[in-house]
Amino acid sequence: MPELRRDPISGRWVIVAPDRARRPLPGSGTAPSRENCPFCAGHESETPDEILALRPPGGGGPNTPGWQVRVVPNRFPALSASGPDKRQNVGVYRTRGGVGVHEVIIESPDHHVSLTQLTPEAVEQVLSVFRERLESHRRRTDLHYALLFKNVGLEAGASIEHTHSQIMGTRILPGVIGEEWKLARREWRARRRCLLCEMIRLDASDGRRMVVATDSFVAICPFASRFPLEVWIVPTSHESDFDAMSENQIDSLAPVLRDVLGRVERVMGRPSYNLVLHTAPFRRRGDDSFHWHIEVMPRLGQAAGFEWGSGLFVNPLTPEDAAARLRDGDAQDTGAV
Ligand SMILES: [Zn+2]
Ligand SMILES: [Zn+2]
Ligand SMILES: [Zn+2]
Repeated sequence: MPELRRDPISGRWVIVAPDRARRPLPGSGTAPSRENCPFCAGHESETPDEILALRPPGGGGPNTPGWQVRVVPNRFPALSASGPDKRQNVGVYRTRGGVGVHEVIIESPDHHVSLTQLTPEAVEQVLSVFRERLESHRRRTDLHYALLFKNVGLEAGASIEHTHSQIMGTRILPGVIGEEWKLARREWRARRRCLLCEMIRLDASDGRRMVVATDSFVAICPFASRFPLEVWIVPTSHESDFDAMSENQIDSLAPVLRDVLGRVERVMGRPSYNLVLHTAPFRRRGDDSFHWHIEVMPRLGQAAGFEWGSGLFVNPLTPEDAAARLRDGDAQDTGAV
């Protein structure tokens, strides 16, 4: 069973999950190919039993074909679905049971390798499943957070190419979210304003980092982008919870997400990226300072010694140039950036 250990020096939590070692490693030749893809319709028996599936009326029973979006437990979970939350302190060492959620959201019954190959209506369905899963995990009293993320391409850590996302729910608040929330809360209390609302206000008036703008969403290359072509999608109105989105908002997010990923794919030539959804912490006692957003992080280079050792990223492409390239959406090779 996995366990969470806290590093006393950095305060960082780590999930120690020996069972993950059985997972086919990306690029090792053991990862499933198109022919034996467990996520394709017709191969339902190769995944654990589904948690949820969107099926049209009369679309077949659970774990049979006929679905449009399907949610299953991860076969090699990093966290165990049940078990005691054993907490142990030995001197400076803190340990907790590795209990939580690790689900896979299969975004299409067909073997598409990108969300951009789906119709806008199919992307809306995927987003409504994201919303449903987050809402469901938020209702659980034991979870502090659920992170929705997407790994696309070998360099981004994907072991299966069939388009999918994952969600991991934890009984701790992950450090990155905790840091973002701390700064948001501080600004909210001191100046009664939201940092992300302020960012999109500045970027809208400046324009140089703006990639796409609609009434409800903007896509910007953030002022301090860590990676070349990093792009964030942000609702223009201040909202803390992704899962509080209305149907209308989902309908307007779907084309923006599809458009932004399409631009990243065209400009990069070879799509390898991570996408993460940062929504507000589940337990926040009425504090609505957090503004949800999606971060897309293309993997054009490797974080190396300096980045790992210092936490400081060196980005060879200015966010202003990145946004200009993404606005053009041109197909030029950016391998040399
Ligand atoms: Zn497939
Ligand atoms: Zn805001
Ligand atoms: Zn964030």
